[in-house]
Amino acid sequence: PLERVSNFSPGPTSLPSTVMRSISEEFLSWNQCGLSVLELSHRSPEFLEIKRDAEMTLREVMEIPEGFTIIWAHGGGHGQFAAIPLNLCGEKSARADYVVTGAWSERAAQEASKFCQVDRVQPKPGTDPSDWEFSSEPPAYTYICSNETIDGFEFRAEDFPHRLGVPLVVDMSSDICSKVLDWSRIGVAFACAPKNIGHPGLTVVIARNDLLERKSQRETCPGILDWKNFIESDGMWNTVATFNVYTTAKVLQFIQDEGGLPEMERRSIEKSSILYDVIESSGGLYSTPWKISRHRSRMNVCFEVKEEDPHSSRNTEAFLTGAHQLNIIGLKTKTPFPTGNKLRASLYTSVSISDVQKLASYMKDFQKISQ
Ligand code: PMP
Repeated sequence: PLERVSNFSPGPTSLPSTVMRSISEEFLSWNQCGLSVLELSHRSPEFLEIKRDAEMTLREVMEIPEGFTIIWAHGGGHGQFAAIPLNLCGEKSARADYVVTGAWSERAAQEASKFCQVDRVQPKPGTDPSDWEFSSEPPAYTYICSNETIDGFEFRAEDFPHRLGVPLVVDMSSDICSKVLDWSRIGVAFACAPKNIGHPGLTVVIARNDLLERKSQRETCPGILDWKNFIESDGMWNTVATFNVYTTAKVLQFIQDEGGLPEMERRSIEKSSILYDVIESSGGLYSTPWKISRHRSRMNVCFEVKEEDPHSSRNTEAFLTGAHQLNIIGLKTKTPFPTGNKLRASLYTSVSISDVQKLASYMKDFQKISQ
């Protein structure tokens, strides 16, 4: 059996063991074709079958309606931060509303401001997001990050802002496939793969067809970010990230076999509740920044270990060392943003309920020895 650690990394992170096993079995020769998927041409019939299968499974798992197109893009989440205004705004003077709930929506807003006029909407936690102060003039689109990986703020699917005639763009990089969606509220959804559905190098864009026909900044848009290029070439404008599409298809199949998004959502609620309960009943040893459960991320449980001296990291380090000794890893990782003593347990697709129970039980033991 595969010896696995409990990996709570915010991504890239582990893949489900069954996926890893299946990839290793097929690694040298896919479907007895004599070549590894690593070696297949992106235009070969073998790869086209893999790509078709990935698209079909994504559509089924996410219940994506007919009127949406799937694009397998390069450039990660950051690539789409630029691609969105370039494809959805006909000129730089067009305006877009960005709901800033944390580091990633802020970064997206900064990138977009190179290509359009950005208005930031500040969240009012605890209130209905539809009541937040959006600009009175309808923008070209409204942008949200449905789960802030670093800050731990999540939009429940029913809280996605809804404004008649204004398409909603959603960065789902860290919560894709973790909850059931209402596609009637979504114009464009995108996600980098390496958290819930794969590994780095692949970004999925799911766009409503009428938005793909919008006037864009095509004359100046780099070809690799121009969605129309992908549509006109049936997704083959350049060399698609072949092995990544293959891996993502495997993870999607895993999600489907396990019961699809309703089951992933149920697990996400269960996994995150286990940890929030430990934090809340810790007598203040652990704390989490979001007091309102409506916004608490089910994917990235942010917490801190209490320090007697706020400038010290003694308890945090002792906590992490003890976790490491039990093969619990990924709770503190470097990010491009300063995070001090902040810890995070990321609960993506590959993290099982028993991984979370193991962490919860360690947190309770650490609490006992800290008293
Ligand atoms: N959006 C979110 C919500 C993310 O968590 C990340 C990466 N952690 C990104 C965007 C950026 O993705 P990439 O590193 O693939 O550019």
